[in-house]
Amino acid sequence: MIVDAHVHLFPDRLAEAIRSWFDQHAWDIRYRVGVEEAVRTLKEGGVDRFVVLPYAHKPGMAEALNDFTLGVAREHPEAVPCCTVFPGEDGAERIIDRALGELGFHGVKIHTHVMLCAPDDPRLEPVWRASARYRKPVVIHCGPGPAAQGYGGDVRPLSGAARLRKTLARHPDAICIVPHLGYDEPAQFEALLDEFENLFLDTTMAIAGYFPDGADPEMLRRRPERILYGTDFPNLPYDWKRELEVVRGLRLPAADEARVLGGNAQRLFGID
Ligand SMILES: [Zn+2]
Repeated sequence: MIVDAHVHLFPDRLAEAIRSWFDQHAWDIRYRVGVEEAVRTLKEGGVDRFVVLPYAHKPGMAEALNDFTLGVAREHPEAVPCCTVFPGEDGAERIIDRALGELGFHGVKIHTHVMLCAPDDPRLEPVWRASARYRKPVVIHCGPGPAAQGYGGDVRPLSGAARLRKTLARHPDAICIVPHLGYDEPAQFEALLDEFENLFLDTTMAIAGYFPDGADPEMLRRRPERILYGTDFPNLPYDWKRELEVVRGLRLPAADEARVLGGNAQRLFGID
């Protein structure tokens, strides 16, 4: 089974706003498509399941975004819905608890750059506690890169392996997935894997050769039990299959390739 552990599907107007932000601050998105076409592309490309990761860029919008994501999953059984919450927003603890509990979301997405909130910020305590309680992963973009301008603040001091380490030491039972192999600190995040058994990384954009200083794909050979395949589709400046080809090109032992491409995600997100 192939699971793309990192996909972004948003309501049309928000997706359009995100694309304009990327046009201005990051890269030229190749797939300017709505939900239906995005889902069709993944399915036709052989992806069996994909994890949908919404993120809120301001307080007060998480619940609507979470509802939208549940709606996508109802229409498309291949979609594995995760929720989001804006750190410190009114009712944050209730929102996260209800989403991972009663509403059955499979994980939660936090973006330290978009939310201008470091991984060890006290406002994230309810998120780490809920992860440990429900045994569901927090997908937290907390590598320092790509450190685009336009986030409304300097994101470098708000991210990095050292700051995540402080939190994981306090919440050893929380399950954590760091996208982009921790780019641009892949070595530091890889070292953290030794320290925390509930820490995982995803490959998103880090091994596609897009960033000249991206991560070493050989990390997958060293850590197949701790790395998940993910793409960031559709917000990509290149062919989404590029990363899949890199993973396959490594010619990992079959069992290891199966873990990276789907098995680890199945276990962590509870995918049948
Ligand atoms: Zn992403």
